[in-house]
Amino acid sequence: MTHTCHPTGDATETLRARHLRMTRQRRVILEELRRTADHPSADELYSRVRRRLPRISLGTIYRNLEVLTELGEIQTLELCCNLKRFDGNAAAHYHIRCLGCGRVADAPTSAHLDLETCLPPHTDFRITGHKLEFVGLCPACDNPTPRP
Ligand SMILES: [Zn+2]
Ligand SMILES: [Zn+2]
Repeated sequence: MTHTCHPTGDATETLRARHLRMTRQRRVILEELRRTADHPSADELYSRVRRRLPRISLGTIYRNLEVLTELGEIQTLELCCNLKRFDGNAAAHYHIRCLGCGRVADAPTSAHLDLETCLPPHTDFRITGHKLEFVGLCPACDNPTPRP
């Protein structure tokens, strides 16, 4: 994921500043996303939100996830193989992805933003962020299968 400095303020305030309304749909999507720590895909989120808003469409979910990401209220995680997951926690943090089942969990370490400041003397690039993803096996996938 890319770390950017998004202020994590009141979502309604931010939307008001941008002349965007905090619609009921947008609020429900944000609530459902913040309720879990499992970084759902848009499809997974769609089925959760649909329990509360039966008439919402997948397209509406995508549009609102885009707006919420743009506002810095959530994060869109672009993992390997075009895997897109959504995170209700907009603060900079790392993730661990299971190579077995694709489960994504928060990595229990704080983000090392100093990684970015240690670069400038050695590059012409203006660094705007960095991506770091841990990979491994979750407990379920790591369980050795018993031999017959
Ligand atoms: Zn797994
Ligand atoms: Zn996360």
